[in-house]
Amino acid sequence: MNRRALVDIRILQREYLLAISRALTAELDLRDVLRIILQSAVELVKANAGMIVLAEPEEETFRVTAVYGIPTHAVQHFAPLLRVPYVDGQEHLAVPELTHRLQQIGGRVGLGLKQMLRIPMVSGGEVIGLIYLFQSDTYYMIEDALTLLRSFGDQAAIAVRNAQLYQQVIKEKKRLDAILENSADGVMILDPSLRITGFNQALSNMTGWPAAEAIGRPHEEVLHWLTLKTDTDLEQALENGWPLPGAAHLYVEGDVRCHGNQHQLRDRVSLGITYAPLLSENGRLTDIIANVRDLTRYREEEALQKTFISVISHELKTPVSIIKGYAGTLARQDANWSPDVIRESLTVIEEEADSLTDLIDNLLEASRLQAGTFSLEISDEVSLPLLAEKVARKLGGQSEKHTIAVAFPANYPTIIADERRLTQVLNNLVSNAIKYSPDGGPIVISGAVHPEHITVSVRDAGIGIPAHEQGRIFQKFSRLDNALSRRTEGTGLGLFLSKAIVEAHNGRLWFNNNASETEPEAAGATFTFSLPVDFSNQ
Ligand code: ADP
Repeated sequence: MNRRALVDIRILQREYLLAISRALTAELDLRDVLRIILQSAVELVKANAGMIVLAEPEEETFRVTAVYGIPTHAVQHFAPLLRVPYVDGQEHLAVPELTHRLQQIGGRVGLGLKQMLRIPMVSGGEVIGLIYLFQSDTYYMIEDALTLLRSFGDQAAIAVRNAQLYQQVIKEKKRLDAILENSADGVMILDPSLRITGFNQALSNMTGWPAAEAIGRPHEEVLHWLTLKTDTDLEQALENGWPLPGAAHLYVEGDVRCHGNQHQLRDRVSLGITYAPLLSENGRLTDIIANVRDLTRYREEEALQKTFISVISHELKTPVSIIKGYAGTLARQDANWSPDVIRESLTVIEEEADSLTDLIDNLLEASRLQAGTFSLEISDEVSLPLLAEKVARKLGGQSEKHTIAVAFPANYPTIIADERRLTQVLNNLVSNAIKYSPDGGPIVISGAVHPEHITVSVRDAGIGIPAHEQGRIFQKFSRLDNALSRRTEGTGLGLFLSKAIVEAHNGRLWFNNNASETEPEAAGATFTFSLPVDFSNQ
């Protein structure tokens, strides 16, 4: 019989095994580890083909993870071999059942394989995988070969385990990185020298610092406090001995400068940062984890509340004290007022009461908008030209310096709309036109009909609006800081509400300064709102 010794003891010299084990322990990529193991094993026993199967602990099965000398399409035919359980200590000779199955498979895939050997990979007392080696010859085992092959299997098992653990660590790290990266709060990690080692996307969005630029820089440079609301910052706290053993977290709040031009609208951001120390077992500081909250909106709301209270109290007080003054004067027992004085005084009282009503209406609308209970009261046949006439008459009568003209084309349609609210919009726009053209001048309310929409414009010859303030004027309680708005009354609610009302009608409200290429000297601004023709009756 043409049998040969499976393993020639001479080639299993220490150096060879050592070289393999070195290659294996240096390698952490599981696929490469498996490739080296299989190739070495095949060389070791001069096999024709081989494969490695690894245990799938959850399914209690083995899965083919590397093959040598077997075409991909043929791999599935080897599955019956995996079903023969490995029994430790019984495979020093060919297992008849395996040999039989192998010969069948060999015939099916045309590889002419006659005999096989399984080397277990054992780690922690468990078979974590098996190396299958296939021969086209029959063989016998010479003395000691099995022990050597088993020691090769043990080496291989260590390498596989290492690679698996490494893979697991990488996977875990990726998972943690993804959690940090996708956290809605800003997260930053610092080393003990306060250099940034981690910086997530939310924090980049808040501060304008791309992670790649922030990482490696000192904490102070990236989060440079412009103002502090708390007593200390991180650097000072560390100087004062933070973190003390068992110390609580450190909270720092204030404004920092935004980086670069990512935030065109703001150059600073209000942050609240909680620093948590990470200590090693012997109490040394290893990392600092910082959770960062953007408090800008909260601060803005706070500022808004303050503005609200001061503006509203001022705006309420003025008409009330005027009304009280006139009423008190008229009521004096000792005076005998002429009918003209009485009429004029009563007109003032009426106007001031009207402006109080407007203010209260505006406040109610604003709170309805905030509460989400704002809804239109739609009526048919609303005529914007007629509304404009009414507003012009009412407001024109109050100012001698201004002339208010109304110009609508004859084909201007009536519309389905909320009449009271559109009157409010016109009221706001025209009274702004008066307020913000202190030297008087013409005010024109005009209409235009377009295929898809109709528009109403209110043009004045007043102070206009500086380009850099254009984004602000439609915000709640915003009043531009110029000499005029300091002198004129106003809540900063008019345009905010007007815009909301127009948008509730599916329209738009915008403005232009009147100066243009054709009229470079034109003063003042034109506010225009459009409404879709769907809203019209045509
Ligand atoms: P208020 O007039 O009560 O201050 P608004 O919301 O109506 O509030 O207007 C906001 C700001 O926009 C005003 O304070 C003013 O600075 C500016 N503004 C509004 N209308 C005009 C206009 N026609 N011309 C110039 N500035 C205007």
